[in-house]
Amino acid sequence: MTSGDMRYGRCGVCGGGEVYRGEYVAQAGLRQAGTGKFRSKQPLFDAYVCAACGNTQLHIQLDEKMSSHIRQKLDRVPPQQSTG
Ligand SMILES: [Zn+2]
Repeated sequence: MTSGDMRYGRCGVCGGGEVYRGEYVAQAGLRQAGTGKFRSKQPLFDAYVCAACGNTQLHIQLDEKMSSHIRQKLDRVPPQQSTG
């Protein structure tokens, strides 16, 4: 059983243990679905990539400003039961 969090070095898709860490700089920006801009600031992500299957997980590098911006501007997905 994996948590799916690749920060612990295991791929949540194939279960492999060959995860590499990089940094992803958003070029176009993360934005609310279907509308406007996310601001011109370029969000930085920690990127975790599985070298076996290519699965990639991004974690935005949060600070107080970014957290509150996300809470105000993006659509929240409430926790729910998976149908799979
Ligand atoms: Zn994998």
